[in-house]
Amino acid sequence: MVVKKIGVIGAGQMGHGIALVSAQAGFDVIIQDIKDDFVQNGLSKIDKFLTKSIQKERITANDKKKIMAKIKGTTKLVDLKDVDIVIEAIFENVKVKKELFQQIDKICKKDCILTSNTSTIPITDLASVTSRPEKFIGMHFMNPVPVMKLVEVIRGLNTDDATAKIIFELSEKMGKIPVEVNDSPGFVSNRVLIPMINEAVYCLYEGVGTPEAIDNVMKLGMNHPMGPLALADLIGLDVCLHIMNVLYEGFNDSKYRPCPLLKKMVQAGYLGRKNGRGFYDYSK
Ligand code: NAD
Repeated sequence: MVVKKIGVIGAGQMGHGIALVSAQAGFDVIIQDIKDDFVQNGLSKIDKFLTKSIQKERITANDKKKIMAKIKGTTKLVDLKDVDIVIEAIFENVKVKKELFQQIDKICKKDCILTSNTSTIPITDLASVTSRPEKFIGMHFMNPVPVMKLVEVIRGLNTDDATAKIIFELSEKMGKIPVEVNDSPGFVSNRVLIPMINEAVYCLYEGVGTPEAIDNVMKLGMNHPMGPLALADLIGLDVCLHIMNVLYEGFNDSKYRPCPLLKKMVQAGYLGRKNGRGFYDYSK
């Protein structure tokens, strides 16, 4: 199978980045969202990113023109009928994602590969609502997509070797480094990262150190570019709590229990950078 056209569903933070790297790699891209405003917003973020790339002399104005010409926006799912690969990047909600995959399974060609950028939902579960679980795979891009090298490629229970191979080659064409993992709660990325953040919250909760001290230990001692509490603020404390709950319930293991302070911060509405207050104050 030769991949020529990619359908990206969801024009938000991840979807617009995925559409951008796909078009930069030379693929024809169609990006779909539920409202035209959302589609236009995604396209304008791509436009802005490319304008900055011209200013940084990474691409020419002509390159930008060619890349933008490769991306079409739509609100109609049926416009994805002739794509070779679907990359889904809509809200992290299992019910909404399953409804979407049921629809898309009927619309897309029989040999089209379906992928999800989900951070936490089992790939095997999403694949089960389609007629092609062997052609279903996780493609977990990192944020921000144009910058981060990793694509965590997650094989569901039924994903076949041919599908995994095509997705590996596709990721590489996008300038990414694919790493294959199996379907398990939090995959590898969030299973390792989020408990580390949770442990940092426990250190704060138990008075082991101030937020600055905890973050400095990890930055200066472990060479992490950012401390775990500052990173939690960037990811969103609600997202971190959600992922801890997925691990806790997925493994039925108390070692993944979310820190009471993390729960309390979310209850108080302290969600991190996105609303001005988390472990640090961003309101000033
Ligand atoms: P977002 O809220 O920025 O964007 C989601 C978009 O999906 C919105 O524009 C919304 O209108 C659209 N959408 C919702 N339902 C839809 C439907 N039925 N059909 C078409 N479009 C629909 O979210 P995001 O941060 O881009 O996250 C998208 C996915 O990527 C989630 O599964 C998330 O877990 C995953 N992810 C996010 C990050 C991150 O750091 N933001 C990192 C890796 C993976």
